[in-house]
Amino acid sequence: MEAGAAPRAQLAQIEEEIADAQDAASLRKTLYGPDLTDAQSEEMLAAADRRYERRKAAFDKTRELVAAGVATESSLADRQLELDLARSEAELASTRAKVVHELTTMAEQEAALEEKLHTAPSAAHEAGERFDGNGLFNSHTFARVESAFESRFGKPLPVSAMGETAVHRALGFNHIGRVDVAINPDQPEGIWLREFLAENHIPYFAFRQAVPGKATGAHIHIGPQSTRLAHGG
Ligand SMILES: [Zn+2]
Repeated sequence: MEAGAAPRAQLAQIEEEIADAQDAASLRKTLYGPDLTDAQSEEMLAAADRRYERRKAAFDKTRELVAAGVATESSLADRQLELDLARSEAELASTRAKVVHELTTMAEQEAALEEKLHTAPSAAHEAGERFDGNGLFNSHTFARVESAFESRFGKPLPVSAMGETAVHRALGFNHIGRVDVAINPDQPEGIWLREFLAENHIPYFAFRQAVPGKATGAHIHIGPQSTRLAHGG
């Protein structure tokens, strides 16, 4: 063996362990953290994938060692367990990333509408339907909406953004005191919700689709229009 090869291999293994620990720390903040942006969600996916690939490599290596008779079957079972866990984590990351992306699409639609209302108020209806009601929306109003929806449909209101989120902050958008509901305004639940809000004079914006022909981003924003933060996010 070449002199220094063993220490170099050891060093490589230590570096690999450090990288893995860094990915685990990153996942604690993103995958298991409260709130994240689209960019953080990309990092979360990459970290979960790297953790999975490392465990796949460890499993394959142990399988070879077992075949060669130098490792036990039980050590392979351990690697299998770690691999399964990493796979579940990667799947969870993928699901979470989809939710964050959907939330970002919704927030971007609201930002686009705000921009349109600013520059060409007459063209704004293309982006969404606006109902001003009495302009009032607070936690009591929201509680009424929630319980009416639940008694009508027998399931909780699918809230996608409750007030301000990291996605809104990243867009420099003030979403405090507003609620987004992941319901297509033209589906039965959306039609019912718009009628309920109108009857109760609760302000809302209905967003149909971000991209023509694609259902993504459709939602109902309850509360007054979001405003751009004066000094960005
Ligand atoms: Zn909103």
